[in-house]
Amino acid sequence: MPPISGTLSRWFTRSLGARLVTLFLGLLAIVQIASFGAIKNSLREQAFRELPEALAVAERVMRAGLADSAAQHAQRVRLFGGDFGFHTVVQEDAETIRSVLEENATGRTGADEAALLGSDFVLRASFGRHIGLLAPQARALATTAEREGSASEVVMLAGQPHLAVLAPVKPINGALLGWVLMSFRLEPRLIDDMRFLSKLHFTLLARESAGAPWRLALSSLGGDRAQALAAALGPDEASAMQSVQVRGEELGLRTHRLAGSEHAGAAVLGVVSASIDEATQVPRQLQLSLLATTLAGFAAFALGGLYTARRVTDPLRSLTRAAERLGAGDYDTPMGGQRRHDEIGLLAQSFESMRISVADKQQQILQLAYWDTLTGLPNRAQFRDAARAALAARPADGSVAVIMLDLDRFKHVNDVLGYRFGDLLLKGVALRLTQQLTRDGDLVARLSGDEFAVLLRDGDAALAESVARRIARAFEQALVLEEHKVDIGVSLGVACAPQHADEVDALLSRAEVAMYTAKRRGSGTLTYEASIDAGSAQTLSLLSELRRAVEHGELRLYLQPKLALDDGNIVGAEALVRWQHPTRGLVPPMQFIPYAEQTGFIRVLTIWVFEEAARLWLALHAEGVLLKLSVNLSTRDLLDQDLPDKFDALLQKHRVPAEAFCLEITESAIMDDPARALATLNRLSAMGFKLSIDDFGTGYSSLAYLKRLPVDELKIDKSFVMSMEKDLDDATIVRSTIDLAHNLGLSVVAEGVENAKAWELLRELNCDQAQGYHMGKPMPSADFRKWSAGWTERHRRSSPSGLMRLH
Ligand code: C2E
Ligand code: CA
Ligand code: CA
Repeated sequence: MPPISGTLSRWFTRSLGARLVTLFLGLLAIVQIASFGAIKNSLREQAFRELPEALAVAERVMRAGLADSAAQHAQRVRLFGGDFGFHTVVQEDAETIRSVLEENATGRTGADEAALLGSDFVLRASFGRHIGLLAPQARALATTAEREGSASEVVMLAGQPHLAVLAPVKPINGALLGWVLMSFRLEPRLIDDMRFLSKLHFTLLARESAGAPWRLALSSLGGDRAQALAAALGPDEASAMQSVQVRGEELGLRTHRLAGSEHAGAAVLGVVSASIDEATQVPRQLQLSLLATTLAGFAAFALGGLYTARRVTDPLRSLTRAAERLGAGDYDTPMGGQRRHDEIGLLAQSFESMRISVADKQQQILQLAYWDTLTGLPNRAQFRDAARAALAARPADGSVAVIMLDLDRFKHVNDVLGYRFGDLLLKGVALRLTQQLTRDGDLVARLSGDEFAVLLRDGDAALAESVARRIARAFEQALVLEEHKVDIGVSLGVACAPQHADEVDALLSRAEVAMYTAKRRGSGTLTYEASIDAGSAQTLSLLSELRRAVEHGELRLYLQPKLALDDGNIVGAEALVRWQHPTRGLVPPMQFIPYAEQTGFIRVLTIWVFEEAARLWLALHAEGVLLKLSVNLSTRDLLDQDLPDKFDALLQKHRVPAEAFCLEITESAIMDDPARALATLNRLSAMGFKLSIDDFGTGYSSLAYLKRLPVDELKIDKSFVMSMEKDLDDATIVRSTIDLAHNLGLSVVAEGVENAKAWELLRELNCDQAQGYHMGKPMPSADFRKWSAGWTERHRRSSPSGLMRLH
């Protein structure tokens, strides 16, 4: 069954316990097998030590048995020989003797056959067909018989071992009348008695002549085994112990020649044998008890193994479970198991300290993810989660309100008093805001920079408005921070679910719209209404249209020439963007640039203009026209840390040098975040871009401050240039600006040059370059090329002073 064996093998390979138990059992099995082998070996050794002795004893038993049996027979034969009655018969004829022999000899003595021999050992009469054959052998026994009264010998008779007994026929103190000879068949009972006494096997073998194979006569071995033994035995019988293989069984044996004369070669051999295999076999009782101890040992080892494995694997498993809990994000449940003093206890301890440190880290991460580090308030993520939960838990007739708060002049405070103070201020605001909330369950969060939010979990519009007004009132009081009194205005926007939105992001954005509108209107607090969102909806649709404009190539690059005032040469051009709207026609930049700046889309626009300008520069360069192209940057561009890299990538891509460009930045763009702007400007300047301050004069920055920036050029705002002729003040400003700029090593460009008079005036004031409708309006690049060709042509033919007249 594959599934079960599969499960088993999986259990085995994956379970330490299984392997431990198997190891235990395997070791036990090896020990048991070894001890069984040792027992068997020593039994065998002992058997081999004892067997010769046992065989010798058995041989003595055999001889004693035979002797005993012989003695009994001899006794009877002796009595028969001494019998007076028989003495009278001896003189009778053979037939009478035979019948007496038949009746008395066999009857009284139990002999098989009997014979009467004369004193000369000649056969006189016999009963039985074979006994006569023994007459010649009888003479050999006569001496003993004469001395002892009888003599006996094992003989072969009709192929069977018999005991032949010879006794003299002689009256007491009379003369020898003859010899009586009787033969007794050796009975199987004799063998059985001997076996009974010695526990070994007895076999009688016989052979007719020397060299003939042994034939089986009698044996306590089973018939087949006995035959095989006879066959296995060689012709030379040795009396010392030997071993022979009999039908796959090893027998140890000892032989003893019972009868046989050397000359005749016929012989009877007595064999005692014992099975060596049997002798060396582990006794059944021992086997059983070995088996029992083995089984008991297996059981004990298996239990012990399981117990040990449990002691190791249970804590390991619980550690594994604990580690899984860690993996699943449960860092709170202790590991357990550290009380043990072993290696596992140590492991559990280190796991536990790992858990604690991970839990700490987790806590820190959560802290970072959900809390604002500066004020200690929840952050935007937590606020959103809380608002979402509140919305989900809102009963059908309940409402949830969000109040959004933004500081009005935070940037200014930051700029003037520094970031450290800005941070202090934010903490102060957080504190004051929190103090205004008295209800349990309301949540204050810092969403970003100077933007805060309040969540009223079961607040309707009326409640939210009253809370918002309370907050606004609270901020009418100045904050006192390190002896500074800071008057900080706040704008608040309120939005409620379900009236204004029933989804968290929508609710937040509605509150934000309300807040920005409040800020714009200067109204302090405002609750969201659909009407105030219309403006932003417009912005949004404009934004998506702008995106499409870039993707569908609706933007156009216009160029307005910049000329050197001293010789009238074209030195550059300003790149100005236009939008060729499919339905609205050509849209001027003032109608979409501000939106693009508000939404950050200006970055995309700037890149587009820059790349277009780069292409144009390359084309002009190929025609031999070398111009510096001015590109306008906005605040958002300056705050974009990646801008220099993006420009660099485009320069590389189009193989255009940075020196081909002049970047125009307004003062206000720099003043929004001077530190970051300066960093960007430094990098751009280092890359080789020429930098220009656009619309100079409209902001409040001093020239001295601007000089600290890496700028090369100053563009006097067109409002001054255009009114220069009529307004003396403006003329003065233009004049002093040019002088000052020159003193600081900056070149000066005047924009808004609308007539020859202005041109002339600027030339007299030593202004370097001029840009204006008088020379050329912003035009598509194709027109620009035509225009510049015409201009150069006219310029060549005229004197510098006649330049203007050519117009
Ligand atoms: P700006 O950078 O000061 O650009 C000069 C503006 O003055 C241009 O208006 C130009 O047409 C106009 N101008 C030039 N000479 C004269 C003149 O003699 N008389 C009068 N009345 N105006 C003159 P335009 O092209 O409408 O651009 C308006 C503003 O839009 C630009 O002011 C600039 O701030 C922004 N702008 C235009 N294109 C881009 C752009 O690609 N990127 C960025 N960031 N802003 C752009
Ligand atoms: Ca400009
Ligand atoms: Ca300008």
